[in-house]
Amino acid sequence: MSGEENTAVQEIDIFYERLTEETAATGYHLNPDTEFTKALITGLIENEKRYGYSSCPCRLAARNKDEDIDIICPCDYRDPDLAEHGACYCALYVSDAVLKGEKTLSSIPERRLPPEERAAKKSPSPKARIEGLAYPVWRCRVCGYLCAREVLPDTCPICKAKKERFEQFI
Ligand code: SF4
Repeated sequence: MSGEENTAVQEIDIFYERLTEETAATGYHLNPDTEFTKALITGLIENEKRYGYSSCPCRLAARNKDEDIDIICPCDYRDPDLAEHGACYCALYVSDAVLKGEKTLSSIPERRLPPEERAAKKSPSPKARIEGLAYPVWRCRVCGYLCAREVLPDTCPICKAKKERFEQFI
């Protein structure tokens, strides 16, 4: 194995270990098929290098972070897909029931709307802010975590999504 290949393998292993720890700490589960999971992680690392953000390895990126914000892994669709289908669209994450063998995986339909419909469904404007509220309320688009504070947290304390994944809720 060349030095470059060795570095790539190490990079994938480090990412895999970090993700395994994070998912365990936050109550999520990685697909137990390590080879499959590492193949998806390779795609995430490649996308991070190519676009500057780790967009979903199973979806076509627009190469524009604002447009792809909903498909930066973990995407906005992970949790509803886990609840409904037992896995995210790529099957990088699986539910408890799938992990225990109580549910079998089948193909997962794409939940992401086409671009025009996504634009029409943008989150409500800050006009909806409740009068008299001391702080704005922020919502993590990935896991739904809410917090009322002047500034956004750098990282979601629940799912570890970065600050850019938050939207103003109220
Ligand atoms: S969580 Fe979303 S972005 Fe990440 S691998 Fe699964 S489907 Fe793709």
